[in-house]
This record gives sequence, structure tokens and C-alpha cells, in this order.
Amino acid sequence: MPAPVEIEVVSCLSDNYAYLVKTGDVCAVVDPSEPEPVKAALARRGWKLTHILNTHHHLDHTGGNLALKAETGAVVVGPAKDAARIPGLDSGVEEGSDWELGGHKVQVLEVPAHTRGAITFVIDGNAFTGDTLFTLGCGRLFEGDAAMMWKSLSKLMRLPDDTKIWCGHEYTQSNGRFALTLEPGNQALKARMNEVNIARAAGEPTVPATLGLEKQTNPFLRPDSAEIRKSLGMEKEDTVTVFAEIRERKNSF
Ligand code: ZN
Ligand code: FE
Repeated sequence: MPAPVEIEVVSCLSDNYAYLVKTGDVCAVVDPSEPEPVKAALARRGWKLTHILNTHHHLDHTGGNLALKAETGAVVVGPAKDAARIPGLDSGVEEGSDWELGGHKVQVLEVPAHTRGAITFVIDGNAFTGDTLFTLGCGRLFEGDAAMMWKSLSKLMRLPDDTKIWCGHEYTQSNGRFALTLEPGNQALKARMNEVNIARAAGEPTVPATLGLEKQTNPFLRPDSAEIRKSLGMEKEDTVTVFAEIRERKNSF
């Protein structure tokens, strides 16, 4: 039996999250925006960094790579398809690339659209989704279109409902305000927003959320919701067209 997995949320920059994923003698950081808060969290816990995992190339997810690698010798793992844009990359992974972190299988899902190389790591029921799936939201379409993002999100939706979603930013509250404009009658969403507001007022993170809860409340996973379609006046359009409209409206919310 591998050692259990412990996860520590590390706040970086203004609203980014990096994550320490510790099991046995192994400790990975997911998406280190900057080195200092990661080093402080490692010191606080007495953990030794062995791996750096990147979900995508953006600087607010990779900005700590080189300093942390130089200091700790950690191995940098990221999308092979974006090898040229991941600072210090040692090991490029693709969907189906089988690897292990401290005896735990790590599943790699390719989820392009925010960036063309974006990946999600799934470790022991924890999905690190970067800027693809946010709690109550989804990432912007910088290097793909709505059809590509819908396909990527649909792939994530096939994970078990109890999968924990750990995303790249604390955007839940503003995402939820937008979600309520489309689905004001969604009771699960209203209940969730009450909890989110309480957590944020106390300065606490709103991650993780389960995939099952996301499916009930995240409008980007719900383009077939009757209420959302009615709000948009799009009762007959196909799923991707509705999804594209939701993304479009969020851009100017
Ligand atoms: Zn990004
Ligand atoms: Fe980001």
C-alpha cells in the first residue's frame, strides 16, 4: 500500500493556487506561480520537494519552476505537446503516459482549449485542472474554440463524481454570481453560493469541490439545463452552441 496523499493549498500571486501533493518521501508542487510561498509552505510542513507538475505553460502556473528546480533538484513534469513553453521541463507527458508518484498512479488527461497543451493530472481521486475547469467556471479560450473546450470538459466529466477538483485560481465567488444570472432557480447552486460567501468572508479557499457538485452547479457543465437554455433564449440550439454562448457572456460579465 502506498502512503496516503496529503494536499496543501498554497496561495500565490493575487488569486492563484499552487498545491503541494505529499505522499511518503515524495512531494510534488502543482503549478508553482512563484517560488517563495511554495518554499514557505514546504518549510512549514517540513516536506522536501521532489517534483514540479505543470498543467499548462502560462507564467502564473510555471513562474516558480526554475528557482524551485535549482534549489531542490525537483523533476519538472508537464505537457509533452508544450515542451518548448514549459520552463525547465524534464519529463513531457501525454494522455495515457503511465507514471507513478510515490506508488500512486497518475492519470494524465489532455484537455486543450485554454492552451493547446493543457493537461489535467489525476492522483488518488484528486484532479488538478489548472485553468481548464474552475470551480463554478471554466478557463478562457486562448488557444482553442468552444467545441474544443466542451470536448475537454466532457472528458473531465467522465471522472467519478467524487473526484475532488483543485483548480488554478480562486474565482468561485465571481463565477457563482455569473452562474446565478443563468440559473437563478438552481437550489444546489444557491446553497453552494451561501457556503462560498461564508468561506470567502473568512478568507478561506473554496477548493476542493467534488465533480458531482460541479455537474449540479457549474453552468459550463450544464449547457443542456432547461433553465439555462431558457435564460439564453436558446431552447433548440445544439450543446456546443449553447456552451459557446455561456462562455461569450462570461467574457463580458
Ligand atoms: Zn492560464
Ligand atoms: Fe492561470
